[in-house]
Amino acid sequence: QVIYLNGEYVTKENAKVSVYDHGFLYGDGIFEGIRVYNGNIFKCKEHLDRLYDSAKSIMLDIPLSYEEMEQALAETIRRNEFRDGYIRLVVSRGPGNLGLDPKRCPSAWVIIIVEQLAIYPPEAYRDGLVSVSVSQRRNIPDALNPKIKSLNYLNNILVKIQANLAGVGEAIMLNAQGYVAEGSSDNIFIIKKGIVYTPPCYIGALEGITRGAIIELCDKLGYKLKEEPFTLHDVFIADEVFFTGTAAEVIAVREVDGRTIGTGKAGPITTHLLEEFRKIVEVDGYK
Ligand code: PMP
Repeated sequence: QVIYLNGEYVTKENAKVSVYDHGFLYGDGIFEGIRVYNGNIFKCKEHLDRLYDSAKSIMLDIPLSYEEMEQALAETIRRNEFRDGYIRLVVSRGPGNLGLDPKRCPSAWVIIIVEQLAIYPPEAYRDGLVSVSVSQRRNIPDALNPKIKSLNYLNNILVKIQANLAGVGEAIMLNAQGYVAEGSSDNIFIIKKGIVYTPPCYIGALEGITRGAIIELCDKLGYKLKEEPFTLHDVFIADEVFFTGTAAEVIAVREVDGRTIGTGKAGPITTHLLEEFRKIVEVDGYK
């Protein structure tokens, strides 16, 4: 395995970051999780747009141009002879001193790791996941704006801890007003009477790339989709519920907080969307 570290390709053992790196000391940095299907980067432009937007918002200078970043991703995939899996792209503020001032960090660090992906077993896509809502609330949109995919994931980690305690794979997080926001690292959709709903991002959700792909797909397949706030009540009485994410793709939910969703397995629209999504990624790999 070869890892891209600031313009060099190093082995896993040699891929080391300074203890003074502000990504480590303060979570000062940003990242992307990206899929490679068939040797192609899925939605590369969307991921890089989100990365450069996050960087701009936190005044982080990425030392690579957009084109150089694309090349670095492609080269890392090539060197690892990689066809299917996951890319983790990290840009940290880089090494500085112990103070939190980013002015003391002369240059951002760019790291690209490619790896095989451990996702849910195939049965989970048919049977659906069990999920719970958690008490952790989504960050309000100030510095911890969910739209910025920052290295500061403590909020999401606390959700994951609550999911682990409940023995479930993914949990549902609400925002401060009690509206459903998203999972620990997935967006959420519900379906009621044939209409697909997902919370608008201002509720407190990352603008997920998979979410975007599913919105496009609903349009293409003729499913009516509404970006509308909803509550846990709406989730409980939904006909279908599913999560979307780069790693999870499209995964049905069969139970939430002890309430069976629909018929208690992946519903027809969720299954259709997953099938069509897989067709796109297999054929296109990406665009
Ligand atoms: N929400 C959060 C908080 C996430 O970390 C992720 C994973 N990147 C998602 C949603 C899903 O986004 P995407 O489809 O871009 O992976």
